[in-house]
Amino acid sequence: MKFHVMTLFPEMIENAMQESITGRAIKAGHIELSAVNIRDFAENKHNRVDDYPYGGGAGMVMQAGPVYRCYKNIEESIKDGKNPRVIYLTPQGKTFNQSMAKEYAKEENLVFLCGHYEGIDERVLEMIVTDYVSIGDYVLTGGELPALVMMDTISRLVPGVLNNDISAETESFSDNLLEYPQYTRPEHWMDKSVPPVLLSGNHKKLAEWYREQSVIRTALRRPDLLEKAELTDKERELVKSLLAEE
Ligand code: SAM
Repeated sequence: MKFHVMTLFPEMIENAMQESITGRAIKAGHIELSAVNIRDFAENKHNRVDDYPYGGGAGMVMQAGPVYRCYKNIEESIKDGKNPRVIYLTPQGKTFNQSMAKEYAKEENLVFLCGHYEGIDERVLEMIVTDYVSIGDYVLTGGELPALVMMDTISRLVPGVLNNDISAETESFSDNLLEYPQYTRPEHWMDKSVPPVLLSGNHKKLAEWYREQSVIRTALRRPDLLEKAELTDKERELVKSLLAEE
C-alpha cells in the first residue's frame, strides 16, 4: 500500500505518520508514504497556488493548474498502468467509516488531495477526483488532518501492520457492534475488580461474555448500529429490554 498525499503542508503529514504504529509500518515496509508539495508545481515567481474566487466572496481558492500538475507527477510515478483512486478530503463528501476503510485497504495506491482556504477550483476536481470523502459534519482549516485520520485507519487494516491481525477483526464496527470493555492488571483497583469470567480461562464462557458485552454496549451507546447487526432472538430481547429501561 502506498499513500500519495497532495498537500501544501507535507511536513505535517510526514511528521504525524512517522510516529507510533504507522511509523513502524513505514520502517518495516508494510506501507509507503509520499507527501508531495502542491506548491512545487506553481509556475510563478512567488510560488502562489491560490487566487480570489470568481464572483467574489470571502477567502481564497486553490488554483487548478498546480493541483493538476502535482497529480500528473504522482500518476507518472505509479507504474502499474492503473488509474489510482484519488480521494478529495472535503466536508461535502461521503462520511468516512470502517467499511470504507476496509475497501480502501485493498488498493495498492491511494492518492489524497488536501484542500485549504475555501477549497479547490472545481474544474480540476472534476478531472482527477474519484472519491469525495468527509471525516464528519464540521469544517476544518485543511484536508491534512482528515487525510491522516484516513491513512491511520486504513494502515491498521493492511496485513502486517498490527502485530495481531485478529485485533482489527474483533474491534468496534466489525459486525456493526462496538467492542466489549477491556481490563488489564492489577486485578483489583480502588474498589473495582476485573469481571471474574475474564480470569476463568473458559474460552466458551469468555466468547459469550465478549459477545453479550458488545451487544449491551452498542445498545446503550450506538443503538443506530444495531439496525445492520446480525443478532440472535435472545440478543434482540436483551436489546429491547435495555432500550425500554433507557
Ligand atoms: N468552503 C468549503 C466548504 O464549505 O465546503 C470548506 C473549505 S475548508 C475551510 C478547507 C479544506 O479543509 C477543504 O478543502 C478540505 O480539504 C478540508 N476539510 C475541511 N473540513 C473537512 C471535513 N470535515 N472532512 C474532510 N476534509 C475537510
